[in-house]
Amino acid sequence: SNGELTPWFQAKVDMRTGSIIGAEALVRWNHPTRGLLMPGSFIPLFERNGLVTSIDLHVFEEVCKALRSWQLRNLPTHIISCNFSQLHFDRKDFPQQLAEIAARYDVPHALLEVEITESAIMKNPEAAWMQIIQLKQMGFKTAIDDFGTGYSSLGLVQMLNTDVIKVDRSFVQRDLPGQRAQVVLGNIIRMALELDMAVICEGVETAEQAAILMRLGCFKAQGFFYAKPEPERDFEARLALQPF
Ligand code: C2E
Ligand code: CA
Ligand code: CA
Repeated sequence: SNGELTPWFQAKVDMRTGSIIGAEALVRWNHPTRGLLMPGSFIPLFERNGLVTSIDLHVFEEVCKALRSWQLRNLPTHIISCNFSQLHFDRKDFPQQLAEIAARYDVPHALLEVEITESAIMKNPEAAWMQIIQLKQMGFKTAIDDFGTGYSSLGLVQMLNTDVIKVDRSFVQRDLPGQRAQVVLGNIIRMALELDMAVICEGVETAEQAAILMRLGCFKAQGFFYAKPEPERDFEARLALQPF
C-alpha cells in the first residue's frame, strides 16, 4: 500500500540476434530504512504468512499497468512473465483474478505469462494441472520455472502442456563445457521442442555458454550476459533501442 514493492524487468533474448523477445518481472522492495531488498530476503517470510499471494497479484497488476503504458506510447510490447507462489493454486478463482486485473488495463492475455516452479506444481499436481489448463483456455501463456530441479521433471512435462519450459540455471552454470552436461541439456532441449514447447535457458552469463546452448538447439536465453533485472525506466530505454 506504500508503493514500496515494484517489479524490475529482466529481458529475455534471442541469442542469434540479441533482440528482446520478452521479459520476466522480478519483485524488489524499496524499503524506507533498509534500502533495496531482493526477493530472497522477504518472499520466504511472506510465503509463510500467506501475504505472498497479495504481492504476486500486485506485481502482476504493475506489469499490466506497464504494458498498457508501453502500448499507449507505441513502445514494442513483448510477453512479460510473472512469478506465482504455489498458494494461488489452492484458489479456484486464480485464473479469474488474473483476468480481472488484465481487463482493468485492457491488456491482451497473450502478453501475460504465468511462471510456476516445478516444485510448486509438485505440491499439488492435480490443482496445478487444472489451473494451467484454465489459464491456457483463457489465452494466458504458461511456463514451468526452474525446470530440472525437482524430482519428477519428466513426469511433469508428460502431464503438463505449458507453452514454455524454463531450464534452471544450474544446468547452464554447472560444467556446461562438460560432455555429460551437454548430453543431458541437449536432450532436455530436444524433448521440449518435440513436445512443441518453447525452451529458454536461465542464467546465461558468458559468451561461451551462449555458444554451447545454441549448438544444442536452444536459442532463447535469460541471463546477466544479455541483461540484468532493471527498473521499468531502464527497461523502457532498452525497448526503445530495439529495431522495429
Ligand atoms: P527465479 O524466478 O528463478 O528468477 C530468476 C532469478 O535469477 C532472479 O533473481 C534473477 O535476478 C536471477 N538471474 C537472472 N539471470 C541470472 C544470471 O545470469 N546469473 C545469476 N547468478 N542469476 C541470474 P531474483 O530477482 O533475486 O529473484 C529470486 C527469486 O525470487 C526468483 O527466482 C523467484 O523465485 C522469486 N521471485 C521474484 N519475484 C517474485 C514475485 O513477484 N513473486 C514470487 N512469488 N516470487 C518471486
Ligand atoms: Ca521465475
Ligand atoms: Ca527460474
